[in-house]
Parts: sequence; C-alpha cells; structure tokens
Amino acid sequence: MTPMTPMTDRIVVVGAALLDGGRLLAARRSAPADLAGRWELPGGKVEAGERPEDALVRELREELGIDAEPVERVPGEWPLRAPYVLQVWTARLRPGSPAPRPLQDHDELRWLAPAEIWDVPWLDQDVPAVRDVAPRLTADRG
Ligand code: C5P
Repeated sequence: MTPMTPMTDRIVVVGAALLDGGRLLAARRSAPADLAGRWELPGGKVEAGERPEDALVRELREELGIDAEPVERVPGEWPLRAPYVLQVWTARLRPGSPAPRPLQDHDELRWLAPAEIWDVPWLDQDVPAVRDVAPRLTADRG
C-alpha cells in the first residue's frame, strides 16, 4: 500500500509575479549556494496559520522593502523540493511603496519587459509559472 502523505507535510511557498507597467520583477538569488545566481519570483514559505496572500505581502516587505498588494492567483501549483509546492500570485506595488531593493536572499533585481522574460536564467522550478505569467505582462501594460 502506498503510504499517505499527511497534508501537514505539504508546505506552500508563495511567489509573486510583481507587475508594473507591463514589466515583471525578477530577483537573483544570492543564497543558498545551489540556487545562487538563478532568478526567481520573489516570495517564500507560508507560516503556520498564515494566509498565502498575507505571506506574500510579508515576504515582499522583508525581501524587497516594498508595500505590495496581491492581485490574483495564477491557476495551478508547481512542485518544489519536497515538501514544498509553489503557488503564484500576480501583485502590484501599492501607491507610495518604496521601489524594490534586494534586502535579503537576493543580490540583483530586474524589471523585465515581455521581450526580456527569458533573458535571465530562472530557477528550473519557476519556469512553468513564469511561462503562465508571461501573457499577463501585455495585459498589464494598460
Ligand atoms: O525564500 P525561501 O527560502 O523562504 O523559499 C523557500 C524555498 O522555496 C526555497 O528552498 C526556495 O528554493 C524555494 N523557492 C522557489 N521559487 C521561488 C521562491 C522560493 O523554488 N520563486
């Protein structure tokens, strides 16, 4: 019989597709060593009892110093190293938010225009999510 995996063994990591004027924010990881130099949608682990949207806002404040607003969930869920799964929300800067800057986990940020989306080496596990987000950049251009 296949052992059941208890739901508590599954930890959601939230990632933000932060959009501004039709561009997507990509963040280059500085740690850990096996991820350093690869680019990701910024975010992190949802804590026990925390709503994913609240985790997203918290992580973006901690990592980038911004005041962000989740907009909508990108349908789907992508497996990371067990027990983590990645869920992605589009997000935008709230009016008056500071500009993002790399405060922890990252050493460089880039706002990518639609034609630049694949110019950075994304983390393998973020690629499917970025692919799904890409069409939304054009819609965000306004
Ligand atoms: O940022 P934090 O260390 O909390 O992320 C938790 C885990 O989720 C890390 O192991 C990281 O590799 C992974 N992650 C990811 N893609 C993201 C954000 C986090 O694979 N966009």
